[in-house]
Amino acid sequence: MMEYPLLLRSILDRANELFPQKEVVSRDYTGIHRYTYADYYRRVCRLANVLRELGVKKGDRVASLAWNNHRHLELYLAVPCYGAVLHTLNLRLFSEQLAYVINHAEDSVIFVDEDLLPLLDGIKEKLGGVRHFVVMTDRRELPATSLSPVHAYEELIASASDNFDFSRDLDEYTPAAMCYTTATTGDPKGVIYTHRGLYLHSMCLGMADSLALSEEDTLLPIVPMFHVNAWGTPFACTWFGSKQVLPGSRPDIKVICDLIVEEKVSLAAGVPTVWMGLLALHRKARYDFSSVRGFVCGGSAAPKSLIQAFDKEVGAPILHAYGMTETTPLVFASKPKSYMKDWPEDKIYDQIAKQGLLVPGLEMKVVDEEGRDVAWDGKQMGELLLRGPWIAKEYYKDPERSMSAFAGGWLHTSDIVTVDEEGFVNIADRSKDLIKSGGEWISSVDLENIIMSHPDVQEAAVIAIPDEKWMERPAACVVLQEDRRGQVEYEDITNFLQGKVAKWWLPDKIIVVDEIPKTSVGKFDKKMLRQRYAGG
Ligand code: AMP
Repeated sequence: MMEYPLLLRSILDRANELFPQKEVVSRDYTGIHRYTYADYYRRVCRLANVLRELGVKKGDRVASLAWNNHRHLELYLAVPCYGAVLHTLNLRLFSEQLAYVINHAEDSVIFVDEDLLPLLDGIKEKLGGVRHFVVMTDRRELPATSLSPVHAYEELIASASDNFDFSRDLDEYTPAAMCYTTATTGDPKGVIYTHRGLYLHSMCLGMADSLALSEEDTLLPIVPMFHVNAWGTPFACTWFGSKQVLPGSRPDIKVICDLIVEEKVSLAAGVPTVWMGLLALHRKARYDFSSVRGFVCGGSAAPKSLIQAFDKEVGAPILHAYGMTETTPLVFASKPKSYMKDWPEDKIYDQIAKQGLLVPGLEMKVVDEEGRDVAWDGKQMGELLLRGPWIAKEYYKDPERSMSAFAGGWLHTSDIVTVDEEGFVNIADRSKDLIKSGGEWISSVDLENIIMSHPDVQEAAVIAIPDEKWMERPAACVVLQEDRRGQVEYEDITNFLQGKVAKWWLPDKIIVVDEIPKTSVGKFDKKMLRQRYAGG
């Protein structure tokens, strides 16, 4: 008998066969949309027929530029089960980056939400390789657009057949999905997720000591479906038959709180910025969050104070987890071991504010600069290296950057960590020169290079400063040209940056300094700058 391949088709079939009456709820442009997994399955079959009609071939990249909604969820399984690769485009990229990733991935078709059309309209001259644009809208008529050829999703779905025979003839290592992640400098880097990797990662999300995701759950992913596949939750939820609640376009914190209460959400997933917003609103409006068993928090460190406040005021715990685009993403989950429950309360909180324990299935090493394993004493720092069935092995079509990041068969994360005697990993620093603002990356090096092209600027180093809402924001330490000292204002620099970077990349602060401290090899000593200006 042939080896049984681990394919996403299992997810689709199981949802249809075992949970046909369970619901997917989606906040659409015209209100709340509800349907069942049986309806979902039929539309996924129709969508697969549409892909065929549009001439999509096995292995082609099919892109989505979309919020968390039911149509995006349909693409999540229709595209990979058809044998193509779903490339989820990050709608926060600025136009050059968006054009770059579409062309680098060679996307053949782009499915786009109606309110995101202007992002593509603005770069249409650069999208010569895209054969079709499909607009996802609740409206009957298509919104105005200069893209061509353009189709209406609902019209294509309405005229397609309900039956589609998804092939079982796929290798489990076939690419199923892909995502790009911001690099320290240069263009974003592509990461491929295989059927096998997503299958095993979904199983891991169901393990009791990770998220224990199950049929009983109602899951609300606030983490975008373009950011590491909403942390893999749409695949796992569909497989397990969990009810899914998708918050749609630009959900604000009130929308999120209302959805949690109205749909009796049991698990919600988002970055710390979202949970800080929820806490602030809850303090004013007092929501009934009794249906919630956990708020999954990842992407940046969950502050201990936030974890405590959730236990005491919100009544449901923060479930702290760590991952990366390159790791599908789940790597660490922070849950006290059974015997830790007897520890003093403060010590338990210190423990779960760490990123946690490696989930089953993965391997890690923490090494110093000479590549030697560091001691597990909670003090010695080293770089975190990872490998395993859902850890990427390379960057897409990028041998040079792959060589250094995946040297020796391990992913070099650039996260500097300690490991304590219990095996809990704590992120102590980041050697990658990036700033994480509200869950999305800003390249400090790119900002520096543009600021340094300003005629009044001699040198610039950009660092992360702590921010209550966004966790981190950029601040630029700037040395001015001698004859311009005392004459340059904040706006002179930020106006210069306008149009060259996304608005949300603009530094919050310009700190004029006499000189930028350098390391022994002449690099900007950002550690020193952080100590001076960012309190760390
Ligand atoms: P991304 O690829 O955008 O998902 O970002 C991954 C990076 O985010 C990691 O390499 C870490 O630097 C950071 N990160 C993710 N989760 C956490 C966490 N729980 N605590 C601290 N940093 C985190």
